Amino acid sequence: MKSLAVLHASQLVTLEGPNRPRVGTEMRELAIIRDGGMLISDGKIRSVGRSDQIEKNASNAEIIDAEGRIVLPGFVDAHTHLVFAGNRLDDFERRARGESYEQIAKAGGGIWSTVEKTRAASDADLLKHAKMHADWFLKCGTTTVETKSGYGLTLEDELKILRVIRQLDEELPLEIVPTFLGAHAVPREMDADEYIKLVIEEMLPRIASGKLAEFCDVFCERGYFDIEQSRKILGAAKKLGFKLRGHVDQLSNSGGAKLMAELGASTADHLEKADNQGIAAMKSANVQPVLLPGSVYALGSSDYPRAREIIEAGLAVVIATDFNPGSSPTPSMPMILSLACTQMKMSPAETITASTINAAYSLNRGDRIGSLERGKLANFSIFDAEDYRELAYWFGIPQTHSVYIRGKCVSRSGGL
Ligand SMILES: [Zn+2]
Repeated sequence: MKSLAVLHASQLVTLEGPNRPRVGTEMRELAIIRDGGMLISDGKIRSVGRSDQIEKNASNAEIIDAEGRIVLPGFVDAHTHLVFAGNRLDDFERRARGESYEQIAKAGGGIWSTVEKTRAASDADLLKHAKMHADWFLKCGTTTVETKSGYGLTLEDELKILRVIRQLDEELPLEIVPTFLGAHAVPREMDADEYIKLVIEEMLPRIASGKLAEFCDVFCERGYFDIEQSRKILGAAKKLGFKLRGHVDQLSNSGGAKLMAELGASTADHLEKADNQGIAAMKSANVQPVLLPGSVYALGSSDYPRAREIIEAGLAVVIATDFNPGSSPTPSMPMILSLACTQMKMSPAETITASTINAAYSLNRGDRIGSLERGKLANFSIFDAEDYRELAYWFGIPQTHSVYIRGKCVSRSGGL
């Protein structure tokens, strides 16, 4: 494969730094090279520096002239629900009219409506829609996506979703990290104990033996899975070799953050209602918080997680879209950067760290992606902007110029 030279980035945002997630003031250090460039071969970054230096060693390389635009590592979206059927347009309209979650569920909406449609959909149908969603992520500059099952809630339907996730990863350039979220809700046809038994005794072993997921997740919340039930499911998953993530302390402070610390989870996600004890427990167990402002926004709430306190407590914050049909229908990481700055008072630099290198570490991939450093995969995006802060500042307009995965252009404004 021919080598590539990226030249003349107004800012090459490298995020070069220690080989670990960034904490505290490190989150503001982006290691920007002005008029920066990179030399790439075999899909990997060979050198990074000023354009004039890179150009000297690029005589045989194909040139990508960034023409004064910014170049960043591809976004790493560490929390999405990408595979589902249908949408929740009726819920959206009802919520706009001021109806409560209970009223919407009574009218046939809520998570259950997505479960029914997803169960009824064929593999081919799910794949077709998932490909459309995946393309949206690429168009927003995202090159790696974690995605969860959880709209099947039977053994066969959960396996179906995980197969679609695997196929998506094989057929598209977007890198997909699979997570099993069988414990997303208790299906209507079962009681909780019966379903937990099914998850632990049948689903988890099948998914482990088929290597269909790297992580196991639960929705730990009143009315879904309580602390004891979550501990049971995640404990069983851990024994089978899964790494752990969890939807915790979103609607109420149930001690979910503490549970994730106790279990040595990779991440605790949401945390809108987490208390100081939970945050301290996460810090001492090196659990990374994944904050999801898109769902707070889309639900019309103002209860954002306390990002400043969490950063100041020394945790390696991640931000993600939580892309899903019910509470966060956005694949756009730039939109999340905007919300993180305006609603959670993160600095623009902190939001870049949280959506690239810290997210990569939370998915166990910090050694391969998340920064533009020698030896890492050449996953990067070029945006129509001169200053990285423009990504969070101009909101609601696409700024993506082109997106590369392993040195190959996979998306370009105006088409490939
Ligand atoms: Zn979620």
